[in-house]
This record gives sequence, structure tokens and C-alpha cells, in this order.
Amino acid sequence: MTVSLFEEFGLKKIINASGKMTALGASAVTDEVANALKTAAQDYVDIDELIEYAGKVIAQHTGAEDGCPTVGAAAGIAISTAAVITGNILSLIERMPNSDGLKNEIIIQKGQNIHFGGSIDQMIRLGGGHIVEVGSANKVESEHIEQAITEKTAALFYVKSHHAVQKGMQSIETMLEISHKHNLPLIIDGAAESDFRKYIDMGADIVIYSGGKALEGPTSGFICGKKNFMEACRKQYKGIGRAMKVGKEAISGLIVALNQYPLKNICVDEQITRMTALCEKLNEVNGLSCSIQQDEAGRPIYRAQIEVGKNAAGITAETLLHQLESGNPAIYLRHHYVNIGIISVDPRPLLPGQENIIAERIIAIIKEVEEK
Ligand SMILES: *Cc1c(COP(=O)(O)O)cnc(C)c1O
Repeated sequence: MTVSLFEEFGLKKIINASGKMTALGASAVTDEVANALKTAAQDYVDIDELIEYAGKVIAQHTGAEDGCPTVGAAAGIAISTAAVITGNILSLIERMPNSDGLKNEIIIQKGQNIHFGGSIDQMIRLGGGHIVEVGSANKVESEHIEQAITEKTAALFYVKSHHAVQKGMQSIETMLEISHKHNLPLIIDGAAESDFRKYIDMGADIVIYSGGKALEGPTSGFICGKKNFMEACRKQYKGIGRAMKVGKEAISGLIVALNQYPLKNICVDEQITRMTALCEKLNEVNGLSCSIQQDEAGRPIYRAQIEVGKNAAGITAETLLHQLESGNPAIYLRHHYVNIGIISVDPRPLLPGQENIIAERIIAIIKEVEEK
């Protein structure tokens, strides 16, 4: 295997068996996307023209009227907030995030005002929005939303995310109905969603996605929606967007990633073969029980689920996880169920053969415990 650029920098090598994590560099892109990044980096382009072209490509893949590339979904939140407040008016765009005297209230259900690794509230404030939370963390009625609308309301905001409270919130359909009845736009943050058409099809005005999550593109993001809002979003690059400038490299990589989407998942047979080989090795170890489990949400992902029996293994799942993460290479497993003694290996981000390194390390850690 070649030495990675990050190892050349003297940084520790990462084996990612956990999924798409911003803290681990989100996604590893295809050769085609990597070539686009390289080619763009070594050339010049009229940036406004490139951004407009990206908007057309985004429109084509989302079914929206138009689009706007961003440096990430978080920037998409700030930019679309600013867009619904300022519209296309340059002097207002240049005044953001100071929105005094303008319609600047953004209504959000309390259970969706979340922290995704950054705070939705702060991203909205960056765009000049004042957040208005409605209802309680686990219960929101449609009346709460409707009664929060005033002459200062700029938009309604819906967060579709596993981080949000899943019960007791009003649906997208209800949010759409209320927003359109009051002639207000609905913004949807669907950062990690993989269906880029769904919310536009439902009638959302503005939808935000991450380029580094389901798309598996470069560090980037995009906004799609109604033409007037998308023009206002792109124009924010003359305002707050300048502090979140998306470069020609990321825009070009985003375009190629969209054109390749959906990438074929690594084939199910291959996932199962590799995870079975891993499980066979781990099932030899006292205290470990490894089996193949399909993704909880029913996606075609087959992970190796490792149950750690604390008494027999002499170590908790939590300690094992920690030791894997603090080694070199640092190995990151999925840990949603670590509190009940379960960790799992996601085969999708693993390079060929890395499952063997994972098995060897786990076996070595347990052996070391036994010898103590
Ligand atoms: C990840 C995420 C974001 C931020 O996306 P980036 O592309 O990393 O900026 C925003 N909102 C939600 C719900 C997310 O899951």
C-alpha cells in the first residue's frame, strides 16, 4: 500500500469502519471526482459562470428550478437564511448578519433545534436570522407554528435528521401547508439525506444538502429550490458567503459527483464475504460474538456486529473501542450501541484488506488483557 499524504505529514493513519464522519474527513472520493479536483486546481475559470453552471447541474439532479453550490450544508443554512431575508438586494446582502428592521424571524420546532456537530441556531444567526423556537422538545402542535408567525417572519425551517427528536414533531406536509398558506418559504435541512428529489417534489422552496455525506463528494454542499431564492443564495457570495467561499476545486468535484450519483454501493456479496471472514476470526476469541447484521434502516449495508462479553473477554466494548481509536493506525468502529456492549464494522469505507488489520488488532488487544 502507498504511503498516504497524511502519513507523509506525520499524522496518524486512520482506518474508518464507522461511516461518514466530519471528524474523520467525511468521504473518500472516486478517481473521477479526484481528477476533477486536480484539473480545476491547475486552471482558471470565470467563477460566477462556474457557480451558475453548478446551479444548473444541481437543478438537473434535484428536479428544482435552480441551485447554489456551497462549502458544506452548514454554510447552506447560513446562506439560505440570508437569502430569504435580503432577497437580491445588494445593500442588504452587504449588511448581513445585521438584519435590524427586516423580516428576520425563522420558525423552527423545538425538537429540531439541534447540534449536528455545529448548532443549527448559530448557523441561522450567521445568516442574520433570529430563531423562534416553537413548542416543547418532544411535542409541537400545528397551532404553535401558526401562532408564532408574525409580520417579522422570514421563513419556516425543518430539519430532517436522525439527530432531531423523531416523535411529537409536525410533519413536513404540515409545515408546507402552513408556510404556503402564509406565503412564506419553507427551508429544509436534509444534509445527510440521500434522496435529492424528495423534498423538492413535495413542494419545498429551499432544500440544503451536504456534498460529503450521501453524495460521497468532496468537502462541499449545495442548496436547491425556487429560482428567485437560488439567485439570492448565489448573490450572498458578495456578502456573508465570502467568508464561506467555495472554491473552483470543490465546485468542480461536486458537479462530477452529482453526475456520477448514485454510486453503486459496494456489492452486497462482497460486503458479506468480507464481514464473514472478519467474524470467523473474531468468533475464535473468548468473549466475542460476531454476526452479520443488515442496516437498521433497511439499506443494503451489511455490517459485522461484535458483541463483547465483558466477563469472558476481560474488557468492555467501550474500552476496546477506545484502545482501537488510540492506536496507530487509529481504527474507528461504529459505536451507536456501545452502551449495551455492541460495536460494529461498516464495510463501505474500508479499503481492501483493512478488515484483516481490524481483526488482528482486536485479537491482540484481548490477548494482552488475558496475559495481564
Ligand atoms: C452534517 C449536517 C450538517 C452540516 O453539513 P456539512 O456539510 O458538514 O456542513 C447540517 N445539518 C445536518 C442535519 C447535518 O447532519
